[in-house]
Amino acid sequence: MKKFAIIGGGIGGLTLAIAMQRKGMNVKVYESAPRFKPLGAGIALAANAMKAFVEIGIVEEIVRAGKKIKGMFIKDVSGKIITFTDAEQLTKQFGVINNFTIHRADLHEVLSCLLQPATIEFGKMCVDVNQNAGGVTIHFSNGNTAEADYLIACDGIHSPIRKKLLPGSLPRYAGYTCWRAIVDNVPEGFNSDETTESWGSGRRFGVVPLSNNRVYWFATLNAKASDPKMRDATTKDLLEYFGDFHFPVPDLLERTNQEQLIWSDIIDIKPIKQFAFGRIVLMGDAAHATTPNMGQGACMAIEDAATLANGLIKYSPEEAFKKFEVHRIKRTTNIVRQSWSIGKIAQLENPILSSLRNGAFRKMPKRVIDKQAESLYNVSFSY
Ligand SMILES: Cc1cc2nc3c(=O)[nH]c(=O)nc-3n(C[C@H](O)[C@H](O)[C@H](O)COP(=O)(O)OP(=O)(O)OC[C@H]3O[C@@H](n4cnc5c(N)ncnc54)[C@H](O)[C@@H]3O)c2cc1C
Repeated sequence: MKKFAIIGGGIGGLTLAIAMQRKGMNVKVYESAPRFKPLGAGIALAANAMKAFVEIGIVEEIVRAGKKIKGMFIKDVSGKIITFTDAEQLTKQFGVINNFTIHRADLHEVLSCLLQPATIEFGKMCVDVNQNAGGVTIHFSNGNTAEADYLIACDGIHSPIRKKLLPGSLPRYAGYTCWRAIVDNVPEGFNSDETTESWGSGRRFGVVPLSNNRVYWFATLNAKASDPKMRDATTKDLLEYFGDFHFPVPDLLERTNQEQLIWSDIIDIKPIKQFAFGRIVLMGDAAHATTPNMGQGACMAIEDAATLANGLIKYSPEEAFKKFEVHRIKRTTNIVRQSWSIGKIAQLENPILSSLRNGAFRKMPKRVIDKQAESLYNVSFSY
């Protein structure tokens, strides 16, 4: 049986390994970390990701570990509504849950439990790959090597494999930085059925309820790249930046322990034109890392997994990789570009322009919003 190596045991790599094993394929996952220690943050998954989980046959296990959301708001700093999306209505329309939230650690736990025993090799940081007519050799940082017939790079935005194959494809900074945390003592009066993203001038604050009475929040602020002031910001500093936002923003910041704060600059990869390279294919963030403005990065990685696994039972692996590229590149490129533009608008620094923006979004016709939902959620995993 052909041997497939998956590099990276993130959301994309694990989902792909499950999907391939369910189709009887021989898969090994090589993960650089010594053990799983997913971020102490949450994640929101939209209908397209949930559809992919249905396709793979694992949606029930995932749903049990997370939370269904009833509505999604964009608000201004004072809490005045800019847009509202009825998530329950979208769930009915697309026949699959939209929107769903889950702690990243819970998602990793569910995915890793669905794998066959001994699928993952931890502490295996891939530093180089070589392919020839006979297969692929994987080189690890400890000097060891492994052989496989085919390789799927799921090693995230900083993928050394993508950088080797496409040396110009480096991460680009979006112009804003981000903090995230989880709070497990929700303030009184908090509505745990709805997500909120609140837009100020050059700053945003998102609130995402999770299961078991926990809340995940994220905050973005315009800043220079790798700014030490941002890296070292305390929850007290964040109260300075975001303390004037509506309830529950200040309460959540006050309830956040300093050690729980996760800081990262927001980066993506300018869309690339090739995912398939003979016996090697890129997927997930390694292929199309996006800014998080549409909450679609992991959703696309999960879609990739369902799609690639389907292709691999229909075509020879190299053919499947090439056809996967053709099937996926336009959609993922559009999402990366759209998300980049939304980020520019949502992070507008000028108070007059940001106020005009809020007004324009309030007047956005429902058909425009519906059209966007349709293009995102009507996704096909066959090719
Ligand atoms: C602030 C923020 C919020 C986000 N919110 C959302 C959201 O709400 N919804 C959503 O859909 N997406 C969201 N995303 C995007 C999402 O996190 C990513 O798109 C998703 O994690 C990509 O999955 P992946 O498996 O492709 O890559 P990753 O999650 O990056 O996983 C890569 C894996 O490969 C391993 N690895 C890396 N290098 C090597 C190597 N050399 N050798 C071996 N292993 C290696 C890593 O340890 C890791 O386990 C957000 C991103 C950010 C930054």
